[in-house]
Amino acid sequence: MIIALNKNAPEKEIELLIRDLRQQGFQVTRVPSKHHDVLGLDGETELLDEKRIKAYECVHEVQRITAPYKLANRQYHPEDSVIDVAGIKIGGNEPVVLIGGPCSVENRDQIFTIAEQVKHAGAVMLRGGAYKPRTSPYAFQGLRSEGIHELAEAGRHTQLPIVSELMSAEHLEEFEKHVDLIQIGARNMQNFELLKALGKTKKPILLKRGMANTIEEWIMSAEYIIASGNPNVIFCERGIRTFEKYTRNTLDLTSIPILKEKTHLPVVVDPSHSTGDYRYVESMSMAAIAAGADGLIIEVHHNPECALSDGSQSLKPEKFEKLVNKCRIIADALERGIR
Ligand code: PEP
Ligand code: MN
Repeated sequence: MIIALNKNAPEKEIELLIRDLRQQGFQVTRVPSKHHDVLGLDGETELLDEKRIKAYECVHEVQRITAPYKLANRQYHPEDSVIDVAGIKIGGNEPVVLIGGPCSVENRDQIFTIAEQVKHAGAVMLRGGAYKPRTSPYAFQGLRSEGIHELAEAGRHTQLPIVSELMSAEHLEEFEKHVDLIQIGARNMQNFELLKALGKTKKPILLKRGMANTIEEWIMSAEYIIASGNPNVIFCERGIRTFEKYTRNTLDLTSIPILKEKTHLPVVVDPSHSTGDYRYVESMSMAAIAAGADGLIIEVHHNPECALSDGSQSLKPEKFEKLVNKCRIIADALERGIR
């Protein structure tokens, strides 16, 4: 349940209200906002006498939250959350953020070459998988620790913050030290023990949508992370499984306005995994920005034919540069721009 407070309500009355609610046994959290501060109530809220609470002049509105998520709920936090990734702001009215890089870090030369190329094309963050979730145990599993090390060095060399996927809480300390934005992959979206462990860090989390998960389940996963103590969550739409076979997944663009309506968290789109084919990445990138995405995460490889993972959906650097220029037209038309 939430209580929206009137703007400019006297602090003394708000304090009285909070004391009253606490005496009734509720846990009260105050969330500041430009429009009106909000009080979040936990406890047996069905016992609350709404009429009596509305009698306080400082109360604007009492709302019962019917959704199963609270901390991620826009009712609870009316303003957009803007998440800071090593100085780069994502969300709200901030410019659109472009993240580029290979599916996997393959060797030092490869990641340094691609880092320089994506930076030149306009990316402001570098992606690269080091711990890879592969369907086959015989496929390339990633360079693991060495991959994180090389990615971090390439990030420092180009001054780009880095994004990489964390698969196990065992490696959280390593990621806490070296990775700027911690990706939770589609396959782990409902690994609840891993989600709970993320509360031990304040590093921002890029939470990918599970390939067979509803938007509500996805928001519940964000709720897990926030409830564990880390409010810095960014959603990443990466396509879902449908009956369609011409694409690897089906990009659910409607999730962008839905997440924006239901939650206050930023949304990034991954047009690479959602299409599985480099030919469709540019058009889906433009569509995602037009639909309100706060950022894009795109796979780029200088030699996609030889990539150790996801070559068929990876853009060559020159194609990525063209994409950035086209996306800039859309972002500028929306008076948002690209960072
Ligand atoms: C990836 O980003 O390389 C990846 C494996 O993504 P997803 O979890 O969306 O499949
Ligand atoms: Mn990939």
